[in-house]
Amino acid sequence: MKVLSVASEMVPLVKTGGLADVAGALPSALASHGVEMTTLVPGYRQVLRQVSGGKTVAEMADVLGVAVRLVSTVVDGREVLVLDAPDLFDRSGSSPYTDETGKDFDDNWLRFAVFSKVAAMIGGGILDDYVPDLVHAHDWQAGMVPAYLRYDGVRVPSVITVHNLAFQGQFAAGIFDELGLPDAAWGIDGVEYYGDVGFLKAGLQAASAITTVSPTYAREVRTADFGMGLDGLLNARADSLYGIINGIDTAAWNPSSDGLIARTYDARSLKARGINREALEDRFSLDHDDTPVLGIVTRLTWQKGMDVLAEAVDGIVAAGCRLAILGAGDKGIESDLSAASRRHAGRFGIAIGYDETASHLIQAGADAMVVPSRFEPCGLTQLIALRYGCVPVVARTGGLADTVIDANMAAVTAGVATGVQLDTLSANALVEAAHRIVELKRQPKVWEKIQKNGMKTDVSWEQSARRYADLYRSVIQARR
Ligand code: ADP
Repeated sequence: MKVLSVASEMVPLVKTGGLADVAGALPSALASHGVEMTTLVPGYRQVLRQVSGGKTVAEMADVLGVAVRLVSTVVDGREVLVLDAPDLFDRSGSSPYTDETGKDFDDNWLRFAVFSKVAAMIGGGILDDYVPDLVHAHDWQAGMVPAYLRYDGVRVPSVITVHNLAFQGQFAAGIFDELGLPDAAWGIDGVEYYGDVGFLKAGLQAASAITTVSPTYAREVRTADFGMGLDGLLNARADSLYGIINGIDTAAWNPSSDGLIARTYDARSLKARGINREALEDRFSLDHDDTPVLGIVTRLTWQKGMDVLAEAVDGIVAAGCRLAILGAGDKGIESDLSAASRRHAGRFGIAIGYDETASHLIQAGADAMVVPSRFEPCGLTQLIALRYGCVPVVARTGGLADTVIDANMAAVTAGVATGVQLDTLSANALVEAAHRIVELKRQPKVWEKIQKNGMKTDVSWEQSARRYADLYRSVIQARR
């Protein structure tokens, strides 16, 4: 079965979040389930730099008015098609989607309409020796893929995965005429979304099946609180909506072979984590002592509850915990947290920025990993934490609720706890959780059991890869 995965990010080429990890992991995870996956990615400047030497497999002078070229290459064993369209993608910016000042590019609609149109054209057979059996589109940037397949009359079925419903690709109605769609596409059953054009909405409407990245989030998005305007549509399509939890790359995230940490370890040598903790204390200018270190690796945003965390810092420190935070994002939150860190020298260290090495060190050296998201489609940080014996402390929402077993009395007695869940998200609840961590750590046997349970948890792609493969098969079958 040949599947074309269409993703605006993919590790190791380009990453701003979990989507890149998923798109990068799916090809090899699915290979053993009979799926040959090829991934279409935009030829951003940083991508072009990494794939020099690919083979040009198609050239088109005019896709929605833009000249494009498709380059076929292999990236660490993954089949990749790069959409080289210099006018759209070969430019500088602070991210693939934003200019140097952090503002969305004005032509994002055109960039990702062309990206989606080309994916649909591949489905339609423009390449000599490659026609996919199914197209798998990710997020709003590929949201128009199912719509183009449908309105271009391509018989190839599609799956769309929502990694985060907060990003919807909503653009003024004026662009509709530039999208090369028939008039029939303008309407509630097509691409129209509250009077605008909605790229994600278009994909959710037209795809053969919809997935999101955890069972709980798949239920939550059907409610007004989490649906972000799309709950009506998602309820109408509930029969075609599935929740498939993400895995992590267990080779890249492996404490027993991790080259980015101070000392490797496994579940039998947990004491060696102490060496990583010392390295973490040095890196984040923390006191050297035995109090718990709570780590955080995240975008510093409202979604991630980082404003609430900023409110809770004084209480967490008073509870006897230290904090090591790595992240970047909202300037207000960055400055609130930096100020709190100056107030608590030795107890709270912060590194503003994106830093792969520091993220590994936090996972390997912190005692607990705090993930207090307001909503969380899946969350990868807590999965990595489980694997590293870094006890996750999570909000009870989305994928966080699905992957962490709270250390309540029953779960501790049964020996199945893997972390701590917050009942509600508030500064008080976070301080309360800090007290719980202190209390649990005072009982070394209980603590170690929680760590080991986490390390035993299957956070690989194995189960989920099978679910995707099964879904692809049933969707292809239904189309026949
Ligand atoms: P999201 O995709 O919403 O940002 P996820 O938890 O799904 O959240 O994925 C985030 C990924 O990015 C994880 O692999 C996490 O380790 C990584 N990450 C987030 N912020 C940073 C940072 N500042 N430095 C290094 N890695 C980070």
